[in-house]
Amino acid sequence: MAQVLTSADIDQTILLEKPVAVLGYGSQGRAQALNLRDSGVDVRVGLRDGAPSAERARDDGMRVVDVPTAVAEATLVAMLIPDTAAPAVFREWVAPDLARGDAVLFAHGFNVHYSTVDIPATVDVIMVAPKAPGHAVRTTFADGHGVPCLTAVSQDFTGQATELANAYADAIGGGRAGILATTFAEETETDLFGEQSVLVGGVTGLIRTAFEVLVDAGYQPESAYFECAHELKLVVDLIYEHGLAGMYRFISDTAEFGDYHTANRPVWSQVRAHFTGLLQEIQDGRFARTWIAEDESGRAMFLAARKAAAGHPIEEVGERLRGLTR
Ligand code: NDP
Ligand code: MG
Ligand code: MG
Repeated sequence: MAQVLTSADIDQTILLEKPVAVLGYGSQGRAQALNLRDSGVDVRVGLRDGAPSAERARDDGMRVVDVPTAVAEATLVAMLIPDTAAPAVFREWVAPDLARGDAVLFAHGFNVHYSTVDIPATVDVIMVAPKAPGHAVRTTFADGHGVPCLTAVSQDFTGQATELANAYADAIGGGRAGILATTFAEETETDLFGEQSVLVGGVTGLIRTAFEVLVDAGYQPESAYFECAHELKLVVDLIYEHGLAGMYRFISDTAEFGDYHTANRPVWSQVRAHFTGLLQEIQDGRFARTWIAEDESGRAMFLAARKAAAGHPIEEVGERLRGLTR
């Protein structure tokens, strides 16, 4: 079994001695900058000129500077901007101001693993990947808890890269929930696979398909929404607390039997083959190349799909029903 570290195993001193630049003040940037500050770290936020997010950072009491200034002042640079923006920002605004022995940190392995950034050999390259959206990284920390973090090192110029990654993970709250060492390859491939197979691609596909089957069969869209979307959270909360097998204790025997009754249908071998294909596209770089090309050519497919998703009939009924309980 892999070793999972907690705060008791970690010394934050190495981080407390380092000026840190957090580039980006979005989902992860805001959460991590605030948590670092509350942990006593010297943080400045680096943003581009006229950044819409600068006002929020200033309202939070952060010192905001331009990206080159942030990089020049800091000895640890956290790249908390969108993965598609990182290569150009790194090339133009980060690399020129990096000093020997500095550290560059990523919250996801994509750009290092798929070699879209050309990082000098004289710096440390580390990853601290919180396994949660940014708002949860912040709210759990403010409540005295944290979210699990994965750490990895792809360049250890100083010999202290692992210690630094652990200290950073602990300072953003990871030590309160568990810190697991991994590699850039493992984090990138499992993260992309998890979001495509289950967390995003799987869940949205299941919900929309099940909703469509019920509505096409003549059931009220409201019933379809409650059964196939609304209740999902309640089941996921049980899984989160008690595991898959533990979840069965809280549902009816009828619901549990329904699971066993349908579990060996041939569709699951098709799903397995589909998931294996997704994993291959992630491992051989096809998914990354497709996404980068889509982004660079103006995201026509991405924007059309987003619009289609927003226009699906489940959105109208869902918005109306969610409004009743607010
Ligand atoms: P966001 O999309 O929330 O980042 C937005 C911030 O980045 C804004 O401050 C924005 O500034 C700035 N930004 C965007 N483009 C540029 C640019 N070209 N130059 C300078 N600044 C720019 O990113 P996330 O927090 O979602 O992702 C950051 C990293 O964290 C990624 O590597 C991601 O994979 C990883 N991650 C994200 C998770 C999440 O929950 N979102 C979960 C775990 C990891 P402006 O105001 O100027 O637009
Ligand atoms: Mg991801
Ligand atoms: Mg039911």
